[in-house]
Amino acid sequence: NYVEGVPKESDMYISDTATIKLKVPHEEEASPSVLVKNLYLSCDPVMRILMRKPGDETSSYFTPFAPGSPLSGYGVAKVLDSRHPDFKEGDLVWGTTKWEDFSLITTPESFHKIQHADVPLSYYTGILGMPGLTAYAGFNEVCSPKKGEYVFISAASGAVGQLVGQFAKLLGCYVVGSAGSKEKVELLKNKLKFDEAFNYKEEHDLNAALKRYFPEGIDIYFENVGGNLLDAVLLNMRVHGRIAVCGMISQYNLDRPEGVTNLMCLVYKRIHMQGFTVRDYYHLYPKYLEYILPCIREGRVVYLEDIAEGLENGPAALVGLFSGRNVGKQVVSVSH
Ligand code: NDP
Repeated sequence: NYVEGVPKESDMYISDTATIKLKVPHEEEASPSVLVKNLYLSCDPVMRILMRKPGDETSSYFTPFAPGSPLSGYGVAKVLDSRHPDFKEGDLVWGTTKWEDFSLITTPESFHKIQHADVPLSYYTGILGMPGLTAYAGFNEVCSPKKGEYVFISAASGAVGQLVGQFAKLLGCYVVGSAGSKEKVELLKNKLKFDEAFNYKEEHDLNAALKRYFPEGIDIYFENVGGNLLDAVLLNMRVHGRIAVCGMISQYNLDRPEGVTNLMCLVYKRIHMQGFTVRDYYHLYPKYLEYILPCIREGRVVYLEDIAEGLENGPAALVGLFSGRNVGKQVVSVSH
């Protein structure tokens, strides 16, 4: 069934099905299919939206999961057999796969061949994959950032947020992040080198908290959360500030999104608020790789990952995104 409210592990089930196939089956030989062994699967907040009964506002954008079918999502895999001219046995790839040990992918066009395997392969679900490109494009293309500007990021220790903060620091911005635990706040300040960080769960007045960290206001808000945090941010934006709306995870489990009351600040402060999707920026992926690989190798950018071992622990890892259980990018390692 489609999922309502906060997702639970019991909304998913694990099945031990067919025998392991090591070749593309005969009936698929005519189609350009690829058979892969999945190595790492990515837990992404958008997967919750795909569990919803299709509605008006999302239907043109997302194809929901079919109840009873394996989840699909980003992952890293090894090609075992291929009928597609671009892929051959032994290739490592990342792209859209299924939450299975082995998957037959009939539309492997979303796969990117992994050319650089001197970094952890799991990074291709995060810093070297979709969330990395989201952070890079969202910050550079949507926020129009300048050195010295005041930047605020919500869900700042997550897959996307931790990178936006580091990119902003590399540019010479003042960077503050919010996250949901003391441990995450410490990591933001000490490991990811944010200027400041705070635990939004401990702030009874978010407006006052933001005033404390941004006495002169916020130039750029990278929005991952929505709800009352967005409302408080609107009160603290500077004139001509920019808000890049990447996502609003606090709204994904609600039947009706919460109202935001301070939208008139967009007018008073001439704020540019823009939603974006990484889908529009895949042409930047080669440029992003050129930028990010040396940053990783030279330690200028670090990446926090939270790896759950085994497909059987996938459902808990996925639902954990909505309670903030993950510390860094949530990945599921599939036995290999
Ligand atoms: P994260 O790794 O940040 O995981 C989600 C985090 O969100 C949790 O760890 C938790 O951290 C926080 N969170 C969960 N529920 C709430 C809540 N009710 N209120 C506040 N915080 C909450 O995820 P990603 O970095 O992958 O994604 C971040 C955002 O970016 C999401 O909104 C996602 O949908 C969006 N996104 C958009 C893309 C696009 O193309 N536009 C592409 C990829 C992601 P904490 O402990 O801090 O609360």
